[in-house]
Order: sequence, then structure tokens, then C-alpha cells
Amino acid sequence: MTKAKLNLLNFSLSGLKEYFVAHGQPGYRATQVIKWLHQEFVTDFDKMTNISKTLRAELIENFVTPDMNCSKELISKDGTVKWLFQVDVKNQIETVFIPEDGRGTLCLSSQAGCALACSFCATGMQGFSHNLSTAEIIGQLRYAKLRLKEIDPNKKITNVVMMGMGEPLLNLKNLLPALELMLDDNAYGLSKYRVTVSTSGIVPAMEKLRENSEASLAISLHAPNDILRNELVPINKKYNLKQLINCCSNYFKNQPKRKVTVEYIMISGVNDTTQHAKDLCKVLKSVNCKINLIPYNPIPDVDYKTSSNNAITKFRNILEQKKLQTTVRKTRGDDIDAACGQLAGNIKNRLKSKD
Ligand code: SAH
Ligand code: SF4
Repeated sequence: MTKAKLNLLNFSLSGLKEYFVAHGQPGYRATQVIKWLHQEFVTDFDKMTNISKTLRAELIENFVTPDMNCSKELISKDGTVKWLFQVDVKNQIETVFIPEDGRGTLCLSSQAGCALACSFCATGMQGFSHNLSTAEIIGQLRYAKLRLKEIDPNKKITNVVMMGMGEPLLNLKNLLPALELMLDDNAYGLSKYRVTVSTSGIVPAMEKLRENSEASLAISLHAPNDILRNELVPINKKYNLKQLINCCSNYFKNQPKRKVTVEYIMISGVNDTTQHAKDLCKVLKSVNCKINLIPYNPIPDVDYKTSSNNAITKFRNILEQKKLQTTVRKTRGDDIDAACGQLAGNIKNRLKSKD
């Protein structure tokens, strides 16, 4: 029987070094291969000219480097770009590029679907199919970087946020090597301040992330008390506010200048009153954070309404009076369903159906 080939795009530099050393190759070969794949965008082993013929033959024998399968590209009138990738016969995931003055943010998916069923999120409505591989996570960045060179070479990816489909911290094993590649100067070389993992609050995995990656952290808080948070973000029943806030207070304790980003969706009459704002200030007293208010983006079959501009301004003023740094996220790409929470891809829910 022939041996199944490994996907080389699943390897970070440290992982590939380990593999090479275990297979009798010098570790520095891994740096060369990673540069070819993630800086030169070369996947054809015969074109990796600084690598010996013998190693090239071994690579050909043992590895594959499949391209991401992009099934659709949509460009919004505000310049936002959305790509749909077919990750298997039944499932599509989405990636979004948001150009802004002087920077460009790429929003990556971590899972096909999401099992956590937050009440306001289109991905959650679709259910969960599977975890993306490291190759599929980094593949979104690799694809976007290459494709943007064709669409508009002036558009650069300066920031990456794990805020697309899925809960990244329920896929930590595959996320960590992808984060390593994003931050590695031999691969994408992004700043740790500009690569952000957003989580709904999987507290034990947050601790593991902290130990294993220098990436920045965002939490999806959305409510200042357990009763409301249980309703909006049901994972709160497992890891409650106190546990989540404790973890955030300690997260950057050795790097006091770094702040945790707190995401707070603004839903009219649900979590946006002045009392909610005052309670939020109390909850966040111990956390070195900046707050990002996200106007709720309407999704089908959910009756929530977006908070009025007036309510958002009032809410923001209360936070700022308590010296909490607050920004309001602009809605981008909503004409192509690329705004926060609108990413639904096309997911076969394994939790509900057997086929
Ligand atoms: N699962 C992770 C990351 C993906 S969601 C998390 O929950 O943090 C990325 C962000 O989009 C989260 O802050 C999420 O709460 C927000 N979001 C989800 N649905 C939304 C909607 N309908 N409108 C605005 N933001 C939404
Ligand atoms: Fe999952 Fe995040 Fe959506 Fe909640 S908001 S359902 S955790 S993707």
C-alpha cells in the first residue's frame, strides 16, 4: 500500500524542523521550505532552487501542497472583499478583507460552523461541521495575500483577526501552528499586536493560548451579568463571567502595556441601556482593556434590532467617563453579507443531521 502524503502547509517552522531532524535532515532546511511556501508562494518543489535535489525528491515523495479551493469572490462597494472556500464536498467557509486608511484587516475562519449557538450569530445558527486544519487556516491568509496582489497591489494585509466563522479556542491544536506562521519572520512576519484571537470565553483554552502564543486577545463579552450572558452567549453557563474576567485580568500581567480587547455587541433594548453600561464599567474594573462596541448586524430569523446611534453614543460616554478606552466598530461589507456575525458559509450541521 502506498503511504498517504502529508500536507506540508500544516507545518509551522518549529513543527517542520522537528520533522526534518527526526528524518535525518538538518533543521535549517525547514526555514528554506517555509520561506518558499509562505513568502515566495512557491508550492512546486522543483522550483525550490536552493534546496538539494535529494531533499526535493524526498519532499515530492512525502508531501503535498494543495491550493485552497475558492468557489466565490465578492467585492463590496466599500472595498471589502469576501472569499468563499470549499473545504469539503458539503462545507464552505468565509474569509473577509477589510481595507481601511493605512491598514488592511483580514478576518479568518477557524471552524466550519460553530457549536456555541450565540443567539445573534449567523455562524452559530448553521451549527457545527468540523475544525479547520492548520493548512486551511493559514491557507486563507496565503490565498488572500496572493489574490490581493492581483486585485490591487496597494492593498496590504497588516492585521489578522480570528473573528470569522467558528470558535478559534475550540480548535487550539490547529490554530497554534497557524498563529506561529503569522508571527514568524520567515513566513508572514506580522506584529503580535496585529494578530488577534477572538473568543467567546473558553477559559481553560485561553490559559493555553497565553502560554503558547504571543498573539493579542479579544473576548466577546456582550453582557455585564451572568443571566443576560447565559442567554446571549450560552457557553457562559460553563465558564461564567467571574472566571472569564479573572482570566482577562491576568492575561497580560507580565506585559502591562498590552490590553485585552472587549467586544460588546449593541442590541437595542437587550444589552444597551445606561444601567448595562454602568454595570459593564464595574465588571471591567480589574481588566486592562479597550472596548469595541459592535452595532448588531441583522441576520435572518432573529428579531433583535441594532441599537440607535443615540443609544450607542450614550453607552460610549458612560464608559469613557470611567476612563475606559472605547471605539465603535464601523459596519463594513454588509451588502455582501461580510459584516461581523453575517458569515454563514454553507455548513452541513453534524450535530443535527447524520448525512
Ligand atoms: N467565536 C469567536 C470569534 C468569531 S465571532 C467569538 O465569538 O469571539 C467574531 C465577533 O463577531 C464576535 O465578537 C461576535 O460576537 C461578533 N458577532 C457575531 N454575530 C454578530 C452580529 N450578528 N452582529 C455583530 N457582531 C456579531
Ligand atoms: Fe460561535 Fe463566535 Fe458565533 Fe458565538 S459568536 S456562535 S462563538 S462564531
